[in-house]
Amino acid sequence: MADAVAVETVSLTKRFPGGDRPAVDNVDLATEEGEYLVLLGPSGCGKTTLLRMIAGLEQPSDGEVRIGGDVVNGLPPRARRIAMVFQSYALYPHKTVRQNIEFPLKAEKMPPDKRRERAEWAADLLGLAGLLDRRPRQLSGGERQRVALARALVREPSVFLLDEPLSNLDAKLRAVARDDLKEFHKEVGTTTIYVTHDQVEAMGMGDRIVVMLDGQVRQVGPPQAVYERPDDTFVATFLGSPPMNLVPRDDVIVGFRPEKALPADVLGERLDGHTRWSLDVNRIEYLSGDRHLHGLATGLGKPTPVIVRLPATVLTPIEAGTTYGFVVREADLRYFDSETERARESPA
Ligand code: ADP
Ligand code: MG
Repeated sequence: MADAVAVETVSLTKRFPGGDRPAVDNVDLATEEGEYLVLLGPSGCGKTTLLRMIAGLEQPSDGEVRIGGDVVNGLPPRARRIAMVFQSYALYPHKTVRQNIEFPLKAEKMPPDKRRERAEWAADLLGLAGLLDRRPRQLSGGERQRVALARALVREPSVFLLDEPLSNLDAKLRAVARDDLKEFHKEVGTTTIYVTHDQVEAMGMGDRIVVMLDGQVRQVGPPQAVYERPDDTFVATFLGSPPMNLVPRDDVIVGFRPEKALPADVLGERLDGHTRWSLDVNRIEYLSGDRHLHGLATGLGKPTPVIVRLPATVLTPIEAGTTYGFVVREADLRYFDSETERARESPA
């Protein structure tokens, strides 16, 4: 495999004619060499456009793309040593798996025996060795997706760009394909930028995640850091299921994750370092053994609907229609400015 290279964007911007704001707005990003970087954000936030500019399929309005330290603006996609797999990857239906994988090499006029060797190497790596003579319609969705990856891989790209490649698989297959992709990345170590709107995918796969909104980068960091210390209320609520609870209090918004609250009686007398408040429980949902309590929080700020997620190991009996004392560790409270919605260190 080629040496891992880094990808960098500098003030990268794309304005489409007639758009009221840039689709990609001044984005500065830098991958590490061999990193698995995940771009996460809601539909329409500019993920695909950003990826297409890195690939050379879209011309930036402003800014630079650098690959391995070289500015590649103006270089055609072929010259960038990049492989891109889209959500709607199309395999050639009448070609076999082998012919599909070899196709880019044939286009490059590689000799047949070398082509064959390379295709078998890629097929092996992706667990397709037994399927080389089948046609796409004889494959499952997950297998087809792996053929698309193998076809991208045979050219030994320096960078992989994956745009929601799992989104037309069902949930179970998606989980398997996710593991396969991670495993595969560990093996080849190619710098990968992976686009998704699915936070579970982002949290599970990324070395770091980049959270985007409206063409801009809101936060970059390892999944745990972004989850635990969101830079603003958008990131706080886009990540997490259920999302972070946000309670207005004077000129500050108090945030806490649903799993950070506990019934006060679990702690007994040891309430040091905890904030106590009350939850009027309206409704209880059972999800994977956890209890999700939907209710109104009072005593934290303005009375506000919140969700508390109690793990199955908390056995406190709780009934809808009743009010209970709850606590959150002070260290688990987050604060955001009411005006800017940006994180701040303390409420004062
Ligand atoms: P995402 O991949 O995050 O869903 P896109 O990059 O596809 O977002 O789109 C970002 C914004 O740019 C959207 O508002 C979209 O409508 C707009 N856009 C994307 N491609 C084009 C295009 N070819 N022409 C005009 N507007 C576009
Ligand atoms: Mg997209």
